[in-house]
Amino acid sequence: MAEEKELLRGGQFLVKETNCEDVFTPEDFSEEQNMMKEAVTEFNDREIIPHKPRFEAKDYALTEEVMRKAGELGFLGVAVPEAYGGLGMGFVSTVLTCDYISSGTGSFSTAFGAHTGIGTMPITLYGTEAQKQKYVPKLASGEWFGSYCLTEPGAGSDANSGKTTAVLSEDGKSYKINGQKMWISNAGFCTVMIVFARLEDDKNITGFIVENDAANGITMGEEEHKLGIRASSTRQVFFNDTVVPIENMLAGRGEGFKIAMNALNVGRIKLAAACLDSQRRIVTHGVKYAMERKQFKTPIADFGAIKMKLAEMATNAYAGESATYRAAKNIEDRIALREAAGNTHQEAELKGVEEYAIECSILKVAVSEDVQNCADEGIQIFGGMGFSEETPMESAWRDARIARIYEGTNEINRMLSVGMLVKKAMKGHVDLLGPATAVANELMGIPSFETPDYSELFSEEKAIIGRLKKVFLMVAGAAVQKFGPKMEEHQQLLIAASDILIEIYMAESTILRTEKNAKRTSEKEQAVQIAMSKLYLYNAVSIIENKGKESVISFAEGDEQRMMLMGLKRFTKYTNFPDIVDLRNEIAEKVKEEGKYCF
Ligand SMILES: Cc1cc2nc3c(=O)[nH]c(=O)nc-3n(C[C@H](O)[C@H](O)[C@H](O)COP(=O)(O)OP(=O)(O)OC[C@H]3O[C@@H](n4cnc5c(N)ncnc54)[C@H](O)[C@@H]3O)c2cc1C
Repeated sequence: MAEEKELLRGGQFLVKETNCEDVFTPEDFSEEQNMMKEAVTEFNDREIIPHKPRFEAKDYALTEEVMRKAGELGFLGVAVPEAYGGLGMGFVSTVLTCDYISSGTGSFSTAFGAHTGIGTMPITLYGTEAQKQKYVPKLASGEWFGSYCLTEPGAGSDANSGKTTAVLSEDGKSYKINGQKMWISNAGFCTVMIVFARLEDDKNITGFIVENDAANGITMGEEEHKLGIRASSTRQVFFNDTVVPIENMLAGRGEGFKIAMNALNVGRIKLAAACLDSQRRIVTHGVKYAMERKQFKTPIADFGAIKMKLAEMATNAYAGESATYRAAKNIEDRIALREAAGNTHQEAELKGVEEYAIECSILKVAVSEDVQNCADEGIQIFGGMGFSEETPMESAWRDARIARIYEGTNEINRMLSVGMLVKKAMKGHVDLLGPATAVANELMGIPSFETPDYSELFSEEKAIIGRLKKVFLMVAGAAVQKFGPKMEEHQQLLIAASDILIEIYMAESTILRTEKNAKRTSEKEQAVQIAMSKLYLYNAVSIIENKGKESVISFAEGDEQRMMLMGLKRFTKYTNFPDIVDLRNEIAEKVKEEGKYCF
């Protein structure tokens, strides 16, 4: 188990250097984790993928049936402690289950995520012993299914503004819930709902465990007709004098917003994971098609334009894996540390995930956008056939789209990631002020004209990552100084800053994974992964240059602007530019040679 002193706190990646030995990578999966990965992949191949047309034809009953089968095999209880009928596996195993079970169809992936994540976790994390004993074993086995009722017609991103009410009965034994919830995944077949409602005029909402019972004033709207995830049941849910015993309140009065937000933190990293295997499969479908399809008497996979796509798609998938499993293990280690310090598993898990809420938001945004782009380019590789329902790209593209919306929209998550980091700095959990001041001083100093020795693997790339962190500190530091608490009103600036943050985390995770693997195998064996890491960083530098420039121009003028733009140029400088075209060709050739995503 990692020692506390070695374990970075959430957000600290920005101000501390991480050794490659300290990151967890998919190549570090234990035997047990590899077995889980195989079992889940096999389940996906057998129970989900062959039935894709039925999912696309809105066969909601099939989703429910496959969920039940997943329950019988224990997949719904991977994260649930053994005491409540689950497998009690660690956080990494939970994440990898979400990853490998999710690529068959977004419909099942959503049902699985809503049930195991936001439908079950609030009870395992916040429930009383009696609540956990009553509900969790049945949810873990798939005898019962869960849903999560937060969103309302008037309360989406502003989740704490819901109008659903809970009123205590005169005898003090129950609450009556009245209100309307919207976009509720699994509504059509759930047994248990986590419902958020307001007591009197409380500032914050309260969570309740509500059993789905039509005789208790619960009615459902029709299934929503959606762009994608077509066999995921999504309905409105109406509560009309629904009686809920007082013992079904989750945590305390007014604790609902906290529960909702923490459930979403877990949900966000799992959602990122759930977007990974889709990318792997899209790359595989893409390369197979591209090698078969001939135009101008040439397989289209031989055209530079197509190689470029395959290389970028594979690279982003690899980066997503690298960052997701790095964060997942940080969370697992943090949970273990807290347990060792005497926290209950429940407290430890809550605090462990909360600690890395910044990383969870980063991953949610980055990987949901990668899967969308991957599917979009997948369609392009298939040309006209990509637009047809007969090929896998069409539904992959439609299914990917939701990931940018639920579990907090990407706009909200972008702003949250920077907002949380600034808050952590103010609480003293991450020292941003010291490093930001050092960067501000460096801007005024004379730059070094030395040419460092960049002969060692990734020495230049790691130096660049270090400087990219300075770009964030320069932009965020100056903006906080300028706007103070009013910074949250400058949304475009926050979004630009979050893009810088996201690219740093993703690029650093990718490089550290490859460096670790190159050290334990060889640079030769990792040649293509090295190319992917360099390509990812190159793209990240371009984004950061652009976002940094946009930010500086938006709030600085005259000499200050000039100084910061010069700093930006210095911080994003390459001494030896990688040949991006060569890198892409090398990656694409490998994918072609293997005929699949092979990293
Ligand atoms: C298929 C599907 C399944 C879902 N499943 C569930 C579920 O199981 N349970 C559940 O409770 N909810 C669920 N949701 C709801 C989902 O979480 C919300 O749709 C999401 O949080 C966004 O809320 P909204 O739709 O009201 O959009 P809005 O909040 O109205 O947002 C619209 C746009 O405005 C932007 N915006 C909003 N506020 C701000 C702001 N302060 N600053 C800048 N931009 C802002 C958003 O980013 C977005 O681009 C689901 C939704 C869908 C479509």
